[in-house]
Amino acid sequence: MKPVYHAATLVDAQVFADCLEGNGIPCVVLQQNAVGGLGELPVIGPEVWIRRDEDQVRAIELVAMLERDIAAQRDDLQRHCEHCNETSPAGFDICWRCGRAF
Ligand SMILES: [Zn+2]
Repeated sequence: MKPVYHAATLVDAQVFADCLEGNGIPCVVLQQNAVGGLGELPVIGPEVWIRRDEDQVRAIELVAMLERDIAAQRDDLQRHCEHCNETSPAGFDICWRCGRAF
């Protein structure tokens, strides 16, 4: 058992776990217990662990590929302002910086 991905949310972790399983790499999502509670300590998110250590190299490659895919999708959704050259998140009707409509 080795950790190959540290996720921000359980949903993220499950997406990566499904991808690894789909590529023939048995894995499990471990939900770390959140610590603190007073805002002083970071909350530790869920992790994806592979069951067979020999899958590690392939698993890390797949995780990197999936991270690139997700980042690319996010970039596609961003809106680009012709006026000030700023990008705004998907769903914005006007530029957050200059207020021009897209
Ligand atoms: Zn703008």
